[in-house]
Amino acid sequence: MAHGTVERGIAGEVVKSALVEELERALGADAVLWRPYDLMLYEYDGSIDKSRAQAVVFPRSARDVSAIIKACNARGVPYTARGAGTGLSGGAIPSQGGVLISFARMNRILDIDLANLRATVEPGLVNLRLSQAVAHEKLLYVPDPSSQKACTIGGNVGENSGGPHTLRYGVTTNHTLGLEFVLPDGEIVETGGSALEYPGYDLTGLYVGSEGTLGMATKVICRLVPMAESVKTLLVVFPTIAAASTAVGGIISRRIIPAALEMMDNLCIQAVESKAKVGFPLDAEAVLIVEVEGLAEEIESMAEEIDAVCRGYDALDIRIAKDEAERARVWAARKGAFGAIGAITPDYYTVDGVVPRSKLPEVLAEIGEISKRSGQRIANVFHAGDGNLHPLILFDEDVPGETERTIEAGADIMRLCAESGGSLSGEHGIGMEKKDLMPLIFSEDDVEIMQRVKRALDPAGYCNPDKLFPTPGRCLEMFARKGSAVGW
Ligand SMILES: Cc1cc2nc3c(=O)[nH]c(=O)nc-3n(C[C@H](O)[C@H](O)[C@H](O)COP(=O)(O)OP(=O)(O)OC[C@H]3O[C@@H](n4cnc5c(N)ncnc54)[C@H](O)[C@@H]3O)c2cc1C
Repeated sequence: MAHGTVERGIAGEVVKSALVEELERALGADAVLWRPYDLMLYEYDGSIDKSRAQAVVFPRSARDVSAIIKACNARGVPYTARGAGTGLSGGAIPSQGGVLISFARMNRILDIDLANLRATVEPGLVNLRLSQAVAHEKLLYVPDPSSQKACTIGGNVGENSGGPHTLRYGVTTNHTLGLEFVLPDGEIVETGGSALEYPGYDLTGLYVGSEGTLGMATKVICRLVPMAESVKTLLVVFPTIAAASTAVGGIISRRIIPAALEMMDNLCIQAVESKAKVGFPLDAEAVLIVEVEGLAEEIESMAEEIDAVCRGYDALDIRIAKDEAERARVWAARKGAFGAIGAITPDYYTVDGVVPRSKLPEVLAEIGEISKRSGQRIANVFHAGDGNLHPLILFDEDVPGETERTIEAGADIMRLCAESGGSLSGEHGIGMEKKDLMPLIFSEDDVEIMQRVKRALDPAGYCNPDKLFPTPGRCLEMFARKGSAVGW
């Protein structure tokens, strides 16, 4: 049932609903948007779905969030959390309308605890701000999604986000030491804290990556990590995608775990270079960006070993960033890759899948075949060390058939990931977008266990509905037209 429709008066004018009036009384009129024009701006995230809320609210505290949730429960209205809306799987889209809870005004750093190397922040804090705030202490917050200039820590917790440097240091769950969150009945609870370890069920771990379906995070205790003494960033140029992707496994099998190991193919190099002008070789079929860090002596020998391994896989050229400024330019270019692709195509669809890194060469070759079959160009820029693929399928929504072909190509890539022993998402989550593909990697029993947790915490199902779990019957339907059904 949709709860997004506006209420109208006798003359057809838009009027405030009773729920909006109640929210305004609780939070103040400047904390609630309800006019259609304003609501339109919050229909989207970074994915291709959209849906309009009945109201967007801007809480300033956990108590505000609790009041919003209680008001929604009393009226049987669904609600959805929104950070910066950069999510790529539709997680922050209010698919059934209802209330969208924006954390934009809960964006403070509450505490920096140097002795325990942690910071307590509000969920609306933009990711990069935390590292900037502790840089003078030579500390950083490791999870570094390419969207880190915009995305929020709450959104990162929702999606269990990663980034280039999670190869060595792990994803958001490895850097979340505790939470305050509001349960779907409005109760405010805390998990974790300042001690190193807590017994009992790992509720923080359960919550991270739950895509806003188990309540709203209102405080996050983040791990801070000392910056490495020295860093070296290598750009390795390869003649083929196969050579570059085989070198990835080659590096790791020598027990060298770089801090980051990223790959870009030629289409992506062209797009990035036309925007960032960092000197990426336009004729290279693929490049690896390899970053090593540690003690000065240690990274010298690591860089030499990587050099030798890559040359063994036909590397054409190996360049080392000569100073911090050059290193920053390389990373800015890499992190701007999605935007650069956006500049060469009217629309693109970001696929997020994981494969064992040993399967990268064959999977990337097959993605090339999917591109030929669908007629859609596909650019690859991804966290190669993690086997976390991000094929970007270029399309034009205005050309009849292209959107459908793009979605089918995306589903084919997901199927490929599943068949190669991988997973449906490395970091962008399942959201609305991939929920009907869950049977590709989970049995009905697996999903039922997850749903039991959901039902125990959110029996009414108002907390971010329509996300994560397959729509009964829909998965079969969706793929039946391709003659190869997905389903249990
Ligand atoms: C250009 C670009 C590059 C990207 N690169 C990466 C990358 O390298 N790595 C990566 O992991 N992702 C990446 N992403 C995806 C996206 O930025 C991440 O998923 C990010 O964590 C989303 O944060 P957000 O604040 O925008 O959250 P939103 O999109 O607003 O929300 C994401 C999910 O979290 C939930 N949520 C938000 N706030 C809360 C809260 N307080 N409590 C509970 N649930 C909440 C929402 O309901 C939703 O399900 C990229 C996106 C773009 C557009």
